[in-house]
Amino acid sequence: MGFDDKLVRKKLEVLLKDQVLVERYLRIYGPKLDMSNVAKLKAFQAAATNGGPEGDNGEPTYHIKLKCPICNQADIICHEMKAKCMTLAFDRFLVPRYKPVKPFTALNYSLVAVTVCPSCLFASPDKKDFLTFSVQAGSENKSQLSPYVLDELRKRVEARKSIIAGVSDFAEYFKVPRSQAASINAYKLAIHRAQVEATLETPLAWYKAGMYSLKIALLTRDSGKDDEPMLKEAADALAKSFRASELKVKELEYQLVYTLATLYLRLGEQAQCQAFMGVLDKWHGEQDKESKIDPRVTTVAVDKWIDKVKDMWTDRDDPDLWKH
Ligand SMILES: [Zn+2]
Repeated sequence: MGFDDKLVRKKLEVLLKDQVLVERYLRIYGPKLDMSNVAKLKAFQAAATNGGPEGDNGEPTYHIKLKCPICNQADIICHEMKAKCMTLAFDRFLVPRYKPVKPFTALNYSLVAVTVCPSCLFASPDKKDFLTFSVQAGSENKSQLSPYVLDELRKRVEARKSIIAGVSDFAEYFKVPRSQAASINAYKLAIHRAQVEATLETPLAWYKAGMYSLKIALLTRDSGKDDEPMLKEAADALAKSFRASELKVKELEYQLVYTLATLYLRLGEQAQCQAFMGVLDKWHGEQDKESKIDPRVTTVAVDKWIDKVKDMWTDRDDPDLWKH
């Protein structure tokens, strides 16, 4: 880097006060100082975020504005978690609980993780399902959902409204801080979206539906209520995901089968639990056989999940097993 380039960088650091933005400026406009470009970048940044991921105001989340891919509603606030502001502790189904790290204020991120369009109730915890704004390109990014899925979801506005029948002011209902009931309904709307995706054989649709159900189960359990109905829904969806081989990656499949075995054990369906333990054993056998031919193959990854599920099976009569 030449002397002039270094000078431009220094000036940008003073003007933008943000290393990430400086790098972005240099990538887009090169090492040439132009105040109108500085202003443009600042404006894009302000339009796209509120607070910012690096902001240190004690808030564990920052805001991004999204647009609905169904009805084009703009300025929908999405709450993204800041890096390193929380630690995760997992329940037995591998669903995270969020624990705050000082100096950030405590927040159960699951309460705000799902973004809901206040007009048509399109809902997802994945911002890429919405239209996002690209600061770099100064343009809009499409939803990652296919046009077929979006078309189908466009036809289901009334079905979404019926999920939260009785609520008339959606913006007020889903605003943050969000009640526990509203957070659960946000996940129910997301499950409905994933089920529509599943009708069009979208990859991972059942997996997403199952994981959202597990989130609801955790929220329900943590409020002292019965989580069993949601655990049943989760087991149904995740079993469909398993049968459709949605995950494609061995390590993730091991984890999914572990979760299924655990769910069925919790639901008192021991035969189903054993069937899924059997799947892990079968995979262990296959890996073991392969390792004889290819020394790079090991059974370590699958064994980890077998050990975990077998420990649980051994403790199945312990009344504290499901205090998790
Ligand atoms: Zn919408």
